[in-house]
Amino acid sequence: MKQIVVIPGDGIGREITDAAILVLKKAAAKHNIELAFSEYDAGGAAIDKFGEPLPQATIDAAKAADAVLLGAVGGPKWDSVAPHLRPERAILGLRKALGLFANLRPISVPASLAEYSPLKPELVSGADILIVRELTGGIYFGEKFEAQEVDGVMTAWDKEYYTRPEIERIVELACQAAQKRKGKVTSVDKSNVLASSRLWRKTAHEVAEKYPDVELGDMYVDNAAMQLASNPKGFDVLVTSNLFGDILSDEAAVIGGSIGMMPSASMGKGTGLYEPIHGSAPDIAGMGIANPVGTILSAAMMLRYSLDENEAAETIEQAVEAVLADGYRTADLYREGMKKASTMEMAEAIAAKI
Ligand code: NAD
Repeated sequence: MKQIVVIPGDGIGREITDAAILVLKKAAAKHNIELAFSEYDAGGAAIDKFGEPLPQATIDAAKAADAVLLGAVGGPKWDSVAPHLRPERAILGLRKALGLFANLRPISVPASLAEYSPLKPELVSGADILIVRELTGGIYFGEKFEAQEVDGVMTAWDKEYYTRPEIERIVELACQAAQKRKGKVTSVDKSNVLASSRLWRKTAHEVAEKYPDVELGDMYVDNAAMQLASNPKGFDVLVTSNLFGDILSDEAAVIGGSIGMMPSASMGKGTGLYEPIHGSAPDIAGMGIANPVGTILSAAMMLRYSLDENEAAETIEQAVEAVLADGYRTADLYREGMKKASTMEMAEAIAAKI
């Protein structure tokens, strides 16, 4: 029996996690996987109940679980709380408590959704990229020097800092993910300028030698930004540092056309955390119209990466594609002539394809 901790969170969080659980249960039944779900609080919901965004009970349950499925946290109700109590602290706290050093964001554009992309449909149709971003190192966590006067000039700096083990483990993970895909990894750096990038590139190649079935290529980050917009189908797995990954993963998310469709996984040595990339969408919370697909595809990633149930993951992904091809759309993607679906109707249509 696999233990899944569900954290609905705030805003549309409950609606989208309910939808994902409905689909997960159907896929689990089909593939004879036993799942047990237990619900915990985090974010604004936890602040209201316990006075803190990430209660110890949630951390303990997450650590003991096989995987965590999270909706989203935050909302205007908690915008004025003290910084250390903000709902978003729950995500950072969970990443830290679970030692999540890798963020995985797949961006795939099925033909049925290519018209929603800001890029030309023929450029994006069929694109299928997995961005693997280092999550706990680099400049965001390096030493900082807050702005102050040095020799009469206001000065500030942040240190980009990587160790070999940090690079090794993220490139290993990218290579292993590529083995389950098309076998191609693009390592993105700025090694023509940065010392940390030169260590990154050297280490990436040493790691890749252990994966003869994986083809490793390098790309400078400026070129990668251009290639994502001009030739997204040229990528399979893209692996990069925390800073570059933050920027490139948001650029790549836009290619897909809708924030409601995008899943993510954060992984470390233990429990993985699975959540859509969007926030709690307070503007549509409680209306039953949120797009649940990002959360449903996050649940598919959970099956693949934390439960090693690749076939069940594919079942869900194919069901999503089939329902989109049938013309089902939630309000965010609805256009004349399509079949308009509420959050739960979308989930039910997907479950019916399983
Ligand atoms: P958001 O992603 O919540 O919403 C941006 C826009 O996209 C809104 O118009 C929203 O209605 C729409 N949208 C988002 N998800 C959708 C879905 N599944 N279906 C249909 N439409 C969807 O970003 P925001 O408005 O900047 O932030 C709202 C709150 O969420 C803030 O408190 C923010 O801090 C928080 N947030 C949380 C996370 C997280 O939990 N990981 C991530 C980002 C933002």
